[in-house]
Amino acid sequence: MNPVMERIKVRDPGEKEFHQAVEEVLYSVQPVLDRNPQYRQHAVLERITEPERVIMFRVSWMDDQGQVHVNRAFRIQMNSAIGPYKGGLRFHPSVNLSILKFLAFEQVFKNALTTLSMGGGKGGSDFDPKGKSDNEVMRFCQSFMIELFRHIGPDTDVPAGDIGVGAREIGYLFGMYKKLSNEFTGVLTGKSLGWGGSLIRPEATGYGSVYFAAEMLATQNQTLEGKTCLVSGSGNVAQYTVEKIIELGGKVVTLSDSSGYIYDEEGIDSEKLAHVKRLKNIKRGRMSEYIDKYSEAVYTEADTSLDYNPLWNHKADCAFPSATENEINATDAANLMKNGVHLVCEGANMPSTPEAINIFLDKKILYAPGKASNAGGVAVSGLEMAQNSMRLNWPADEVDRRLKMIMKNIHQTCLDASAEYGVSGNYMAGANIAGFTKVVNAMLDQGLL
Ligand code: NDP
Repeated sequence: MNPVMERIKVRDPGEKEFHQAVEEVLYSVQPVLDRNPQYRQHAVLERITEPERVIMFRVSWMDDQGQVHVNRAFRIQMNSAIGPYKGGLRFHPSVNLSILKFLAFEQVFKNALTTLSMGGGKGGSDFDPKGKSDNEVMRFCQSFMIELFRHIGPDTDVPAGDIGVGAREIGYLFGMYKKLSNEFTGVLTGKSLGWGGSLIRPEATGYGSVYFAAEMLATQNQTLEGKTCLVSGSGNVAQYTVEKIIELGGKVVTLSDSSGYIYDEEGIDSEKLAHVKRLKNIKRGRMSEYIDKYSEAVYTEADTSLDYNPLWNHKADCAFPSATENEINATDAANLMKNGVHLVCEGANMPSTPEAINIFLDKKILYAPGKASNAGGVAVSGLEMAQNSMRLNWPADEVDRRLKMIMKNIHQTCLDASAEYGVSGNYMAGANIAGFTKVVNAMLDQGLL
């Protein structure tokens, strides 16, 4: 084992998601270290794997019955070598230090790939917004920001949404930040359009992921036209992934949430997608309700006793995991291969386990790691920050044009870096090498910090 990895496992035992994310990067960048001895001398691995700052705090809030609850919250300020910390906030009961450190670590490389000036961070809480009233969510967000506001700022740390944090939560968080700081600044991204948000930000991660997939297919003279696609999740990323696949002529046959998934052999068309958006974003309902309207689809309840996810066991050409981490294991990966999938494009962060990734790499399919393919969201967040600084709003086609260009550049950067280090076509190695090199060179330029 790499001695740096060994040290991390001893010092941070139990942080298995963080270990998984670090191990992948350390493995990929080994040839970069061999070619650049100054990196070892400057202990860049030890430094890049240690957050610059971790803030952990209590959030007390009151429910509608007057009962007080206490949640734990964090902000990981991982690396600021190339810009202010930037990364989402996640509200989900599974949130812990390990998950947020893995997400913050991934964010550092992802943000570097966008070519925009953004460092990496991530935060959140084990608060579960599901089943809470708007007032309860507001009280939680306000209490959360009462502590967080002193650690963030438009040139210091700019949070955004992630799982469980959408436009509603960003609104409540921003309102309290503005009140406490007495400033209206672009301190959060993902804001609503009427008060500083950017057009295309809600669409950006999903659209960007599909643009990346289209770029990968183009290297083999293929397009998404007529391709059958499996998509997991039904939140922000999944919805706009489906929207763009439909627009480019593909057919999406699955969507899911943590309770189960639907399989619609006829394909989820624009009308069905509009229904899903209403169901999830307004009614805050469950995917099981899809079959109440579209009885031709089949709903399968999630079964935790299975060692695989049946969503990944359908005939298809492409897969877009867009729900959560480690949602594709080795059995799922083998099922995808057996069913004809030749492209896996990650909309979620780290949705494939290391064993699943090894299968994709062995079979030499088109495999895009989330830190490259889902970078469209943070890229447009960067564009939101730029528009806020200029007090301007770009039209949708302008933002979309820039997003497409950024995704094209990230795709090419991954290919170039993989070729430079003799692993042509390995997007995972390419993304890790390119992101790592940019950040560590900035760290060395700025001296020992
Ligand atoms: P949302 O909260 O909008 O949606 C998440 C979706 O995934 C929901 O359908 C949710 O189901 C499902 N899900 C969450 N946890 C689990 C689980 N443990 N098992 C099964 N399903 C689960 O989040 P986003 O769409 O924003 O995020 C999805 C993924 O994309 C995450 O990995 C996130 O980090 C990543 N990402 C998001 C970006 C963004 O711009 N939003 C940017 C880059 C990456 P349920 O409703 O039942 O919880």
